[in-house]
Amino acid sequence: MRGVYLLIISIVKPVQIQVGALGNIFFEKGIYAYVGSAQNSVEKRVERHLKKVKRKFWHIDYLLENENVKILQVFYKVAEKSDECKLAEEIGKKGTAIINFGSSDCNCKSHLFQLNNYQSLRESMHPMKV
Ligand SMILES: [Zn+2]
Repeated sequence: MRGVYLLIISIVKPVQIQVGALGNIFFEKGIYAYVGSAQNSVEKRVERHLKKVKRKFWHIDYLLENENVKILQVFYKVAEKSDECKLAEEIGKKGTAIINFGSSDCNCKSHLFQLNNYQSLRESMHPMKV
């Protein structure tokens, strides 16, 4: 399945993480949403995100590697690549952007946002079993 996905992430305590070329970033304890897309297989991409040990390639890999960071839930939607940034923009209205995170290849402010809650995201996306 090709589409866009959302990782709902919990950071269980405040941490500073070296995020590749972005540098050292401080993350408050809380709930975050990361927007991604996979044009071959969303299932395979999500499977990769769930593995703690792997070669680090994307900004999100550096975040998810940390022991204080957990994926709570995954949502997905069948969509085109261009919908990824539309979704990021939409979620940006509900949360606080971690500037430049995951958006090196586009013009978005970010693809990672801190949110107060993620209940409203359930309306437009499907939960994925993880
Ligand atoms: Zn984007």
